[in-house]
Amino acid sequence: MKFLDLHAQYKTIKKEIDRVINHVITNGDFIMGSDVYALEDEVAAYCGTRYGIALNSGTDALYAVLKALGIQKGDEVIVPAFTYIATAEVVVSTGATPVFVDIDEQTYTIAPDKIRRAITRKTKAIIPVHLYGLPAAMTEITTLAKKHRLYVIEDAAQAIGARYGQKKVCSFGVAGCLSFFPTKNLGAYGDGGMVVTNNKKLADFIRKWRIHGQSKKYYTDFVGASSRLDTIQGAILRAKLKHLDAWTNQRIKIATRYNSAFKKIQDIKLTEFKNSKHVYHQYSIRINNRNALVNYLKKHGIPSMIYYPLPLHLQKAFNFLKYTPGDFPVSERISSEILSLPIYPELSFNQQKYIISTLNEFFEIKKK
Ligand SMILES: *Cc1c(COP(=O)(O)O)cnc(C)c1O
Repeated sequence: MKFLDLHAQYKTIKKEIDRVINHVITNGDFIMGSDVYALEDEVAAYCGTRYGIALNSGTDALYAVLKALGIQKGDEVIVPAFTYIATAEVVVSTGATPVFVDIDEQTYTIAPDKIRRAITRKTKAIIPVHLYGLPAAMTEITTLAKKHRLYVIEDAAQAIGARYGQKKVCSFGVAGCLSFFPTKNLGAYGDGGMVVTNNKKLADFIRKWRIHGQSKKYYTDFVGASSRLDTIQGAILRAKLKHLDAWTNQRIKIATRYNSAFKKIQDIKLTEFKNSKHVYHQYSIRINNRNALVNYLKKHGIPSMIYYPLPLHLQKAFNFLKYTPGDFPVSERISSEILSLPIYPELSFNQQKYIISTLNEFFEIKKK
């Protein structure tokens, strides 16, 4: 069994994928071809936003939004202490300072009641992360941001299609950032990302930014970057977008099966949430002595992953920020307890049953 089987997915859509790749190669419009612009419109519409700007990665999407908002040295940006490194890395890249905030114990997303204490006169923005595919507490976060005049930038790299209340993620803040990294819910066959927004000025800036700040070929308005999505990736993503809702439904089905099996096991803590649509980029459980279970699963041919073993405030790269162990106890505890199990649309019913029975077995043996 694989933790994620991208080849199994390819086999289900091989005809379409091969056709669109061939089409791009025949056309020869490898950079900024029509599939890129069409994808931008389709993804923006899918997220309930007006504009989409395709970029080279999800990391670049976050960075481009910060640049577009003029965030720079001297500014502070609030980010969760428990997320993928990119969320905070981009803040440092602009010269600004990331300010970490602990996460909520039930959803693993930034704790809104802890944000207030982190706001200073230098704070310019908050980047909530919809971790594992579950939306952060957007009502509280946007209310707080409005009161303190802060930008909200949604890191939706793991959460395309997720909903908070009736609204899709990416439509709450000034912009939403998506990643098309191959393992994400909508993955390309290489790197890719997108900013979606309703803000025309921001969209116009990023459209120029991705081509060296050029409004016209060889006329540069400001220093930008080279950060475009390849036409081939645009074509692949357009073909895959048509299947995204069906794939998400399948993820939810598997998660529902896992949930009903695992809630009977006392030693397992499950994610708790309401009024949200979780898109299960990851299915994560929490347990006390994780290593024993990891080894047991491995012995029985079941791969599992730890996202993430070390919270950001304890990463070597951020030593200069002078945080210490104990600063964010929830992030620290959850990073020592969290474990992700295989979840992807092509995971067969028998494989799901095997995962459930193997976990049951482990906890039965432990009881004796
Ligand atoms: C994947 C990811 C990113 C970065 O996306 P890339 O396309 O890999 O650059 C940012 N934030 C989160 C939460 C992610 O999971």
